[in-house]
Amino acid sequence: MTVNLLEFEKHGFARWCAEMGEKPFRARQLMHWIHQSGVDDFGAMSDISKSLRERLKATAEIRAPHVVRDTTAADGTRKWLLDVGTGNAIETVFIPERNRGTLCISSQAGCALACTFCSTGRQGFNRNLTVAEIIGQLWLANRDLGRGVSEERPISNVVMMGMGEPLANFDNVVAAMQLMLDDDAYGLSRRRVTLSTSGLVPAIDRLRDTCPVALAVSLHAPNDALRNELVPINQKYPLKELLAACVRYIEKAPRDFVTFEYVMLAGVNDSVAHARQLVKLVQSVPCKINLIPFNPFPRSGYQRSDAMTVAHFRDVLMQAELTATVRKTRGDDIDAACGQLAGQVQDKTRRRERRLATATL
Ligand code: SAH
Ligand code: SF4
Repeated sequence: MTVNLLEFEKHGFARWCAEMGEKPFRARQLMHWIHQSGVDDFGAMSDISKSLRERLKATAEIRAPHVVRDTTAADGTRKWLLDVGTGNAIETVFIPERNRGTLCISSQAGCALACTFCSTGRQGFNRNLTVAEIIGQLWLANRDLGRGVSEERPISNVVMMGMGEPLANFDNVVAAMQLMLDDDAYGLSRRRVTLSTSGLVPAIDRLRDTCPVALAVSLHAPNDALRNELVPINQKYPLKELLAACVRYIEKAPRDFVTFEYVMLAGVNDSVAHARQLVKLVQSVPCKINLIPFNPFPRSGYQRSDAMTVAHFRDVLMQAELTATVRKTRGDDIDAACGQLAGQVQDKTRRRERRLATATL
């Protein structure tokens, strides 16, 4: 069977090389070719002997997900729609800014956690992505974005904030993040890799002990009653437990705060009273709060809070000396904004379902 070398982080690579009867330094050589030079053709690996290249060709491949569509928005945000087989599509988004370039990576096709305001949640869960499919998104984006002038890599930050709940696909996400951090692969610092979770408490503790990267937690509500509704996993891991896990995480985190994400839903969680409750709730957690304007999608049932409401909410937080930012909405003309990913794909499926339904009538 052909092995996909994008599946291997350093230890996996070393094991595989040993099985092939190759010296350990080959693992590093291959990692450099694949992840740093972006090569997918063994023939191009000039410092590897011809006989080994032939063996590699016969037994291995370097295969990222297939790009179905590649779109660039008016603001430069770029989105790749990737086919991961059996009718599943995922998305990867690159957000260029003046001083950094951020790649937003998906971890699952669909998501089982069913947050009510999220289009991925509405799709239901299809499957976990493999390590190759996760790291393949960074590999592809690096290749398509080129190195840029002065050999500077266009991608300086990675956020696990695309489709899916990364901590529900723990092992594969951690292996992919290890490659992001590895100096023989992408060499990003832990501070520049951020994982966003809806709050799987035991997995937050596991992450702290295995691969502590920067942490963002999707809070979205200042009390259990409302959070139970918006983020149903709260029924299993309520706020008190979640916040305690955040405090434990900070002991080992590369940053001395956790980012709380809070999507602003008109008339649902955006009042001054909610803001005051939020201030009390997070008082014992070193944190920054990122207010996210809701990104609408068809039949969501929610509306974005208006700018004035967001400003008032933010003022309450700032008066309590919390750091609060409002996330700029990027790429919404190509449905690349948070929670909108693969919306069109979903619609396509619905069209197919509708066609099938009418065909059998
Ligand atoms: N599953 C993880 C990471 C992916 S979602 C999580 O929930 O944290 C990344 C962020 O986008 C989360 O904070 C999520 O709550 C938010 N989000 C989801 N749908 C959204 C929407 N329609 N508008 C704005 N933000 C949304
Ligand atoms: Fe899943 Fe995150 Fe969407 Fe919730 S917000 S359904 S956890 S992807």
